[in-house]
Amino acid sequence: MRTPRFARALIAGCLALLAAGAPGGAQPTAAAPPPASAGPVDPTLLEDLVTANHVLARHGVLDAFGHVSVRHPSDPHHFLMSRSLAPALVATADILEYDLDGNAVDARGRASFLERFIHAEIYKARPDVNAVIHSHSPAVIPFGTTQTAMQPMFHISAFLSPRVPVFEIRKVAGMTDMLVSNAQIGKALAEALGPSSVVLMRGHGMAVVGPALPLTVFRAIYTEVNARLQTQAIEIGGPITFLVPEEAEKANKVLDQVHLRAWDLWKREETAKAGQ
Ligand code: MN
Repeated sequence: MRTPRFARALIAGCLALLAAGAPGGAQPTAAAPPPASAGPVDPTLLEDLVTANHVLARHGVLDAFGHVSVRHPSDPHHFLMSRSLAPALVATADILEYDLDGNAVDARGRASFLERFIHAEIYKARPDVNAVIHSHSPAVIPFGTTQTAMQPMFHISAFLSPRVPVFEIRKVAGMTDMLVSNAQIGKALAEALGPSSVVLMRGHGMAVVGPALPLTVFRAIYTEVNARLQTQAIEIGGPITFLVPEEAEKANKVLDQVHLRAWDLWKREETAKAGQ
């Protein structure tokens, strides 16, 4: 059957509209040049970032997914993070430098994590933060999806005091694929984090921050431990006596002093494994 003339005109009109781009949409422009590098980074920091990836993978905080970054030591407007890759496989050659809009300095065809805006927007909002971890570590998920707040069960997780905020992506972006895949959602996540060390992401996972990489790794691992302990306490039943803010403040001062003992142990375990 022949297509009627008016239908052909309609199709031609639609094709012309498509070719011109969506009404009100941005016109295609030449790709912006990548940002300039903030300069070379101490190889020890890169090695620590690789080790952090491996340690977090071995502790089940990161699996095939999730990522860890550090702020660039020479430029607070840049950060360092692996290309899109399972954390257990990350090596120093996989580390890319990004600006705080999530643009890679020297991608050379390497793919970036879709959720790099988690890191970029937290670094923008929190000048005190120098490392960020995003994970889907399983024990924390129920505390993002129920009305039960996560609170510090013991002195090692005092940094969770008084309770962990929850980010509801639906409030800021409606129906999504749940990913923090643009700056607008990343900014809202950073707002939900506020001054806390951890924010849970409903139906997704968490973001963990700290003033340096070792303490941030420590917090991510012990947030997962705290989630398991709190779930066990709920199963036992009855009221739970969490650390109160005054206890948490005192315990946090000790953690700031002693967490490097854990980092040294985890690093050594990775080195021993690599030598096998
Ligand atoms: Mn994610």
